Amino acid sequence: MTSPRPNPSAVIRGDALWSGIRDDLRARGLRWTPQRRTLVEVLSKTQGHVTGVQLVERCRAIDPETTPSTVYRTLDVLEDLGLIRHGHGADGREEFHVLPAAEHGHIYCHSCGGTWEIGHDQAASLLETLASEHRFTADLSHVTIAGRCAACLEAPPSA
Ligand SMILES: [Zn+2]
Ligand SMILES: [Zn+2]
Ligand SMILES: [Zn+2]
Repeated sequence: MTSPRPNPSAVIRGDALWSGIRDDLRARGLRWTPQRRTLVEVLSKTQGHVTGVQLVERCRAIDPETTPSTVYRTLDVLEDLGLIRHGHGADGREEFHVLPAAEHGHIYCHSCGGTWEIGHDQAASLLETLASEHRFTADLSHVTIAGRCAACLEAPPSA
């Protein structure tokens, strides 16, 4: 691979990140079609989190011909290229992190359905324990830790 890889730790503007995408996709054997251009356009304007279903909807608003299979196949390649990362919500549903978002994990409250982001610093001791006790390098952005939030723990039972 001769194309430069985006570096998630560097502060890069969104459009710079997506500028070489056309050639990157071609190098992976994907033609630069109107559907893919629409998807890239939508992603480059997306910050934070987005689900595959939301992406298909947003693309269809621009190009009604958009097919989910093309969107999902292109998303796989974009993840290989390091432009997005997928994670899972508490129900296992895939959601995508659009770079240059900083890597983070999620915690989810069963009682109120709230979700919060946790950064590397907050998860440091967990990640260190996994590394030292299990020689396991955890992918923080991939999973959601489910439990109960402070407000729900303190709230008197409602029933
Ligand atoms: Zn997230
Ligand atoms: Zn996964
Ligand atoms: Zn809660």
